[in-house]
Amino acid sequence: MLSPKTVAPAVEAPHYLAQGLECELFEQAFQARLPLLLKGPTGCGKTRLVEHMAARLGRPLITVSGHDDLGAADLTGRYLIEGGDTRWVDGPLTRAVREGAIFYLDEVVEARKDITVVLHPLADDRRVLPVDRTNELLHAAPGFMLVLSYNPGYQHLLKGLKPSTRQRFVALSMDYPVPALEARIVQQESGCSEAVAQQLVQLAQALRRLTDHDLEETASTRLLVMAARLQQGGMPLALAVRAAVIEALSDDTATVAALVEVQRAVL
Ligand code: ADP
Repeated sequence: MLSPKTVAPAVEAPHYLAQGLECELFEQAFQARLPLLLKGPTGCGKTRLVEHMAARLGRPLITVSGHDDLGAADLTGRYLIEGGDTRWVDGPLTRAVREGAIFYLDEVVEARKDITVVLHPLADDRRVLPVDRTNELLHAAPGFMLVLSYNPGYQHLLKGLKPSTRQRFVALSMDYPVPALEARIVQQESGCSEAVAQQLVQLAQALRRLTDHDLEETASTRLLVMAARLQQGGMPLALAVRAAVIEALSDDTATVAALVEVQRAVL
């Protein structure tokens, strides 16, 4: 066990290669106690940026992924019945507010609308969390920061971020990195050669140019890293790309065949 005087070694921040001034913006928002909204396609580095900055700022990170069943009570907490007794258990947002952690809610538009009731008072100057069930009004500890992310490219018919929510946040738009940077990321994240990283990025460029409406999403940096890792494990590159990139983009046979044609033209 650590003696009280032992200082635990600083955890190294997860690697993040900046595309611009996003780390500075994140830090300024944290210092100014402003909430942050990250917009950008899946797999472009939003989560990694938050993980990197939480470690750099020395704050614990609590992450929740939005889904259509996620409501305010899942964030604030609930009473649990244990052998006839009821016991209150803090939800992840309440813990973050008490501990002064960075709270990251990924894909916020997927969650139920009632979460705005708990997010809004935390996102403005009040920085408070009303917990109705315990009748508490919690003031966020100094290190607390609220970070939301969503993908504006999705065609959400009824889903979208309300202006009243959007206007409470400092916002940062992210996208896939420029080719030279993306190749460096793929190389660093997988350990693959520069040549392989460049080929994968070239393929991603070609796939991203497709304006196929069957594709809900396009080739992300994440998929390129996955393909490079398979290749590093000994799999031929074409097979790695098929498994990690092409098959991940569509279930439709004709679309997959069209994507394979693009792959053949590039690799
Ligand atoms: P998002 O949260 O936008 O869906 P992630 O942050 O999970 O995407 O990124 C997916 C993966 O891509 C990461 O795990 C990492 O390997 C890689 N990645 C993307 N952008 C960067 C970057 N700027 N620096 C380092 N790795 C990155």
